[in-house]
Amino acid sequence: MDAVGKLKLLGPATCFEPAGEVALERAAGRPPRVDDITKCIHQAATPGGKRIALLKTLLTSACERDCHYCAFRQGRDFRRATFSPDELARLFMQMHWRGIAQGLFLSSGVAGSGPTTEDRLIDTAEILRRRYQFRGYIHLKIMPGAEREQIEAAMRLADRVSVNLEAPNPVRLSSMAPHKSFDGELFQRLRWIEDIRRARPGRWPSSTTQFVVGASDESDVELLTTTEFLHREVGLARVYFMAFTPVPDTPLENRAPTPPEREQRLYQASFLLRDYDFCAEELPFDAGGNLPLEIDPKLAWARQRLSHAPVEVNTASRRDLLRVPGIGPKGADKVRRARERGTLRHIGDLGKLGIAAERAAPYILLDGRRPARQLSLWSA
Ligand code: SF4
Repeated sequence: MDAVGKLKLLGPATCFEPAGEVALERAAGRPPRVDDITKCIHQAATPGGKRIALLKTLLTSACERDCHYCAFRQGRDFRRATFSPDELARLFMQMHWRGIAQGLFLSSGVAGSGPTTEDRLIDTAEILRRRYQFRGYIHLKIMPGAEREQIEAAMRLADRVSVNLEAPNPVRLSSMAPHKSFDGELFQRLRWIEDIRRARPGRWPSSTTQFVVGASDESDVELLTTTEFLHREVGLARVYFMAFTPVPDTPLENRAPTPPEREQRLYQASFLLRDYDFCAEELPFDAGGNLPLEIDPKLAWARQRLSHAPVEVNTASRRDLLRVPGIGPKGADKVRRARERGTLRHIGDLGKLGIAAERAAPYILLDGRRPARQLSLWSA
């Protein structure tokens, strides 16, 4: 099979790995077939927020592991393919020179041990950087069990590295991936990444992880408590959540798919933890430890806590401003700068700052007064 044929098989396989795409693809059981390799390109955001055309692919869809949820688990019958590092680097550069791809997201099945596979991922990135002098964006996956020296080598080559924890704790992981070690093979690698960044400050890549949501009866509070810990303790830039979809011919083929709304609420809650100074224990979990699906978690929190205790916009701390629906980190900073120029008295003053004023109105005071009447005037 030539390299283009391999990419048609291996590129679509990354639909199981979100990486900042504008729209997240899903596949029921088998990666979608593509007849055109440009369909392996995804419009994605880099860590700096720049939108680029990202080639997402696996180095190989062969895997020696047997994770219960995974389409690539060993023994499952489908057509597999493997790139050599040289072959993939050459194909990527051809796409780059033709203006098709600006960056590369490279993951892999585990073939011949985690360290062996990691060597091949590193080799691919080294060929791109050294032989082809490629200076663009590379996201490299860190394989289960990769060695510390390999992680440092990957970090010297990549703009982002990621370790997929898949589950929020060892108990949940063992029920869905019985031959993966949460602490020994996965979490320790995230710890090493942060240790390397802290030991030698410099231009190191950011790190991310991914959870498969709903494959192990885990609750949202488990996922988000671990998310909070990862942001705080190992400097994780982002957590990706992927709603479980049953894959035919796997142990979980009869399990119900996770509703996409759950994934959406988890993303919203994770941003509250990362960017809005919320703690996991403040989030509006139900008795089962899950977020309500029908409402944005920040709005649910505000209805419970701010409806009868509105925030005075003119004196509130940044942290309190961030708790108001409609006010994000940029909006909170604009409010604080605007307050230095004078008192904010009208809802229109917030609208001029780019704040979703109608959303904020039920939860704020402006110079001691609720803005409801002012809102109707402003929005007329
Ligand atoms: S190690 Fe990765 S590719 Fe292999 S079966 Fe598990 S999740 Fe799938």
